[in-house]
Amino acid sequence: MSHVFPRNCRAEPPVAVGGEGCYLIDASGKRYFDGSGGAAVSCLGHSNERVREAIKTQVDKLAYAHTSFFTSEPAEALADHLIARAPQGIERVYFVSGGSEAVESAIKLARQYFIEIDQPERHHLIARRQSYHGNTLGALAAGGNAWRRQQFAPLLVDMSHIAPCYEYAERGEGETLEDYGQRTANELEAEILRLGPETVMAFIAEPVVGATLGAVTAAPGYFKRIREICDKYGILLILDEVMCGMGRTGYLFASEAEGIVPDIVTIAKGLGAGYQPIGAMLCAGKIYDAIRDGSGFFQHGHTYLGHPVAAAASLAVLQEFEAHDLIAQVCTRGDFLQSALERKLCQHPHIGDIRGRGLFRGIEIVADRATKVPFDPALGLAGKIKKAAFAEGLGCYPMPGARDGRNGDHILLAPPFIATEAQLSDAVDMLERAITKVLATVS
Ligand code: PLP
Repeated sequence: MSHVFPRNCRAEPPVAVGGEGCYLIDASGKRYFDGSGGAAVSCLGHSNERVREAIKTQVDKLAYAHTSFFTSEPAEALADHLIARAPQGIERVYFVSGGSEAVESAIKLARQYFIEIDQPERHHLIARRQSYHGNTLGALAAGGNAWRRQQFAPLLVDMSHIAPCYEYAERGEGETLEDYGQRTANELEAEILRLGPETVMAFIAEPVVGATLGAVTAAPGYFKRIREICDKYGILLILDEVMCGMGRTGYLFASEAEGIVPDIVTIAKGLGAGYQPIGAMLCAGKIYDAIRDGSGFFQHGHTYLGHPVAAAASLAVLQEFEAHDLIAQVCTRGDFLQSALERKLCQHPHIGDIRGRGLFRGIEIVADRATKVPFDPALGLAGKIKKAAFAEGLGCYPMPGARDGRNGDHILLAPPFIATEAQLSDAVDMLERAITKVLATVS
């Protein structure tokens, strides 16, 4: 009998015993193509030599030194590497162990910044519905995923949620994409005015919405308008790139695609590529300076901040991106994957939308293509597709609730950057078989 407290107490997952390139191998020897990199994590696959070596070398040299006593060479080198490539004005990196910790750090930093600059009345955080920012209480409160929030609602601090920019489901008939983008961005201004501009500290959003919506990019001009509104009212813009950053959408920082610069960015997942647990919160020089010149101390911290082994692994991950020009490859393979999905699935009566950027793709399943009405959530489509795909030998990330936390089904794909065209084609074939099999039972 297992003593592990699993995610799902009623499921018995196979035991993963090995990893080779884009494949995971279980104890029976079965191989699974890692079509979602777990949850958009394993961007270099599972057997990268440079990263493995970097970890071993660092463990032999120095495994751990608490950051209240020391800094470390790997943390310094990784911070230099990130800042040299970060959006203009981003000057400091705060290393944590994952995405939720990065988001918690971002929220607390935003609050402390306004204390330091003598605007203590600013405390409201505005976020979006149908977003996910992590599972710790602060990050969960910021997230707009109704299902994930529901049972913990009494524990969550009050935050505002405006509409996402989700044109497939929410753009009005006859409304242009640009007009729709402006309309949804303007919801931020309306909410700021409702709360009182002098009380709002920050707005947080995923540049490409991952787990909750399934690789939804914003309408052109949406984020430019968001930046304008934040500037107009002196509000910090926090971009959560935990899933979509670090090359996943074809840019090291996902905000580059939108032509805007955030004040705070959160990253994780691909940063360590699964070889080590690591995340980071990066901030503008003006925020760091306010703290340095004010109290001199960010009132936050965790035991494993800036872990040397995690930082060494992460630096090796980022060096690997450049040594093999992998981010450029994400763009070409991403286009290939989109075309392969369209070719194989677009005639399917229940495939409503195939979308995304780079190697971050989403497929939305609907009961009726013309009306975009989703299937009854009681059918549990997402779970069934995940199971059927896994039986085929494909790991993918289906989720229910795209529309409102309950209705709507999508499948997220986030394969390793090293996946070949042949491997991506095979993955699409496996996915098509899984979808067809499951939908045959409900339509
Ligand atoms: N933010 C986003 C956008 C995410 O997708 C996730 C995880 O999926 C998180 C934050 C939380 O990251 P973690 O699971 O590493 O705590």
